[in-house]
Amino acid sequence: MCGIIGYTGSGSCAEKLLRGLDRLEYRGYDSSGISWLDEKGKIKTVKSSGRLSLLREKLGEALPKSSCGIGHTRWATHGAPSDENAHPHCTDNVSVVHNGIIENYFSLKEELIGKGYTFDSETDTEVALKLIDMYYKKEKDPLSALTSAMSRLKGSFALGVIFRGREGELYAVRVGSPLVVAFGDDGNYIASDIHAFLDKTDKYFRLEEGEIACVCPRGVRVTDRDGRERSKEILTAEFSLSAAEKGGYPHFMLKEIHEEPRIISDTARSMAELPIDKIIPWDILDGIIKEEGNIRIVACGTAMHAGLIGKYYLEKFARVSVEVSYASEFRYSDPIMHQGDVLILISQSGETADTLAALRMAKERGVFTLAVVNAVGSAIWREADRSLLTLAGPEIAVASTKAYSAQLVLMYTLAAKIARAAGRLSEEAETAICRGLSDTVPKAVEGIAARDREIKRLAEILSEQDNAFFIGRGIDRYLVTEGSLKLKEISYIHSEAYPAGELKHGTISLITEGTPVVAVITDKNVADKTISNIKEVTARGGEMIIISSDDIDIPPELSKTVFRIPSIGIKGNCEKDYSGIFIPFSAATALQLLAYHTSVLRGCDVDRPRNLAKSVTVE
Ligand code: GLU
Repeated sequence: MCGIIGYTGSGSCAEKLLRGLDRLEYRGYDSSGISWLDEKGKIKTVKSSGRLSLLREKLGEALPKSSCGIGHTRWATHGAPSDENAHPHCTDNVSVVHNGIIENYFSLKEELIGKGYTFDSETDTEVALKLIDMYYKKEKDPLSALTSAMSRLKGSFALGVIFRGREGELYAVRVGSPLVVAFGDDGNYIASDIHAFLDKTDKYFRLEEGEIACVCPRGVRVTDRDGRERSKEILTAEFSLSAAEKGGYPHFMLKEIHEEPRIISDTARSMAELPIDKIIPWDILDGIIKEEGNIRIVACGTAMHAGLIGKYYLEKFARVSVEVSYASEFRYSDPIMHQGDVLILISQSGETADTLAALRMAKERGVFTLAVVNAVGSAIWREADRSLLTLAGPEIAVASTKAYSAQLVLMYTLAAKIARAAGRLSEEAETAICRGLSDTVPKAVEGIAARDREIKRLAEILSEQDNAFFIGRGIDRYLVTEGSLKLKEISYIHSEAYPAGELKHGTISLITEGTPVVAVITDKNVADKTISNIKEVTARGGEMIIISSDDIDIPPELSKTVFRIPSIGIKGNCEKDYSGIFIPFSAATALQLLAYHTSVLRGCDVDRPRNLAKSVTVE
């Protein structure tokens, strides 16, 4: 949520701030703004609702010469996207950019109004600003003003702050929401994530909970809430700048879908040799296998859908029962968790607020936590007992695609390794699954991505509609849940995903002439049942789009709009029939491309859909 950037150095800040915001725009894009210190040390601010291009227009050709400033691109939580609510928010003395939510903004606002402060915006951020301003007037020192304000603010917030007359000084505060500090040749930066400055430097460190950084052109000083100095280890960013560029594709989303074969292979290879006891300690695993402890998966959105696939294969391979929960529900549901349980947390950014809170709750209760994240060093990565990395690299399109595929790889691998440890899967089968993930699956997914045109034809059916259904059984039910979400996110078509057998228990009343229904059939065992449900739909005039594996017989009257996926799985001497176990990867990519083309045909902003933002760091 929201992008924060700040620069202080020998160069001029405006262009650097704007370029940084350009890279961070995927985190929020309903308004933007910058503040800087002019030659007299006074704070100047320009902001605008809408996309960054409008801010550039407002600033005009002659950008300010200042060498110290902050910038923000917003994802509104408190107050509509407007010029007034756009950040930075400033008084004569202080300018603030904020990522997150101040939960006690209302009581603080009343207190500040009682002290004579007035408010121009509806934001919680302005409350934080005026609080800092109040303490700054009293204490005359930026660091103590920030520490005092921090002790009063509740919620999650990352702040970038400049003070009048404090030339060259940039302050960064982290409570809950992520912030990094970076070191360039001609100056230093603060930012919400490393993409903002990757063209200038790859040397950075992350601020930790409760830390405040004072960033100057020649150095950085970090202190904790009690004013104690903290030393930081400087890291080198591993992502290359090309990840933040489209590389010839019209959209990041399409580029990222085409990266899936490599990512699947890289992630699978990174896991293949990892012994299970390096993932979950033996004593805990033993308890899980004996059903003394439970596995629970907690995540949000697309990551939660990957968790559902994890549940399916953990139960299928390892025969351990798994519960999957939305993190936002889990944390307030007084969940039953005991020592000896395993909590698996999946998060692309590693900073998802609800997932992080679930992790902390589990740790307090002595539950073993295992993170699956895409960002080394992120809060979830650091705080979990063990962390596994999806090697998807930075994902820029707001709708997650390649990170989801990488999460699926980890779910399969984990399931196979636990099953092997439980003696419920042979060594041969485990090796075949790991090998299949690194060799067979990437090739199959590449094959799907190359059939872009065929999928575009299916998208033409959807693109004219306002409503759609997705149906499937077994694993396909979990796949369509993600397919439906993807369509909603980027094409704004209202869509619902249902277990195929459930439609007739209510929702079939919405099927009328021409209602599009996307069915996924990759599981041979339930194919006939799903086909019966499809017949129920077509009998009521519904228009079917079927994505099915090529070894399933589809009746000729239904085969008009069928997208066939080659069946891939494990052949040979396995305990059970695992011949089609890898088809979900191909189906997932096909569903992503279906949503992508529908969005393009409808003229939507594919990479930056309405109201959404990447990396959800608020509750
Ligand atoms: N809560 C703040 C607002 O609504 C900051 C939102 C953000 O993270 O962009 O302005």
